[in-house]
Amino acid sequence: MKNKILVLKNLKKCFHFDEGMTIALNGIDLDIYKNEFVSIVGPSGCGKSTILSILAGLINKTDGDIIIDDNTSIGYMLQTDSLFPWRTILDNCLIGLEVNGLKNEENISYVISLLEKYGLGDFLDKYPDNLSGGMRQRVALIRTLALKPDILLLDEPMSALDYQSRLSISDDIYKIIKNEKKTAIMVTHDIAEAVSMSDRVIVLTKRPGVIKSIYEIVLENRSTPTNNRKSKDFSKYYDVLWRDLDVHL
Ligand code: ADP
Repeated sequence: MKNKILVLKNLKKCFHFDEGMTIALNGIDLDIYKNEFVSIVGPSGCGKSTILSILAGLINKTDGDIIIDDNTSIGYMLQTDSLFPWRTILDNCLIGLEVNGLKNEENISYVISLLEKYGLGDFLDKYPDNLSGGMRQRVALIRTLALKPDILLLDEPMSALDYQSRLSISDDIYKIIKNEKKTAIMVTHDIAEAVSMSDRVIVLTKRPGVIKSIYEIVLENRSTPTNNRKSKDFSKYYDVLWRDLDVHL
């Protein structure tokens, strides 16, 4: 039996400005299950990032309900790594703990253990300029994990990288999220990325966004995102999603 970790009920968002308003989301109903990896895709401007911003508490919803246990916490990883160039890799990863008054020995050890576990042990005292784009995204993910969130929100986490780096960081991010037993909600415009990484893909309509379809991704011998792209069912899902996004909107 799958456990729900987050429920969105009839979630609505309107942006008001002098000349009128934009209805960004017009009633999103969605259940997210523990340890799931869910991607949200849809045309540009359909409200994907708005969902993440509401869940991260950056903006208020207009209407609807977000049902989440009091003990369940949410972390947000942005498109760009936004690492501070003047802080070491370790100090960048400790920012969230500092801001929240949680920088104690135990939490620092936890962050160091994550950096070591995910191949950044030799870079604790280095600066972001010394790292590749892919490594910087790994640091950004570990910075988000420092606060031990149960749910990770990922807003196009690979979009700033070149194609080769995107593939390898997809594998890295996927591995870290699965190893650390997190639930992930990722926004992407890349169908291949969504199919290769996700348990379910949510398709939104054009603005005002509502859920158009939900695809459960069942791949034989599911493994890393890069290997999943070679699965015989991968192209089937890719084609269906491509048609759903491009033709019938
Ligand atoms: P997506 O991530 O799917 O590209 P967004 O969630 O960023 O779309 O935006 C959804 C809609 O809401 C867009 O039409 C956008 O212009 C509008 N919007 C987003 N943020 C704001 C804002 N702060 N003020 C006014 N309109 C906004």
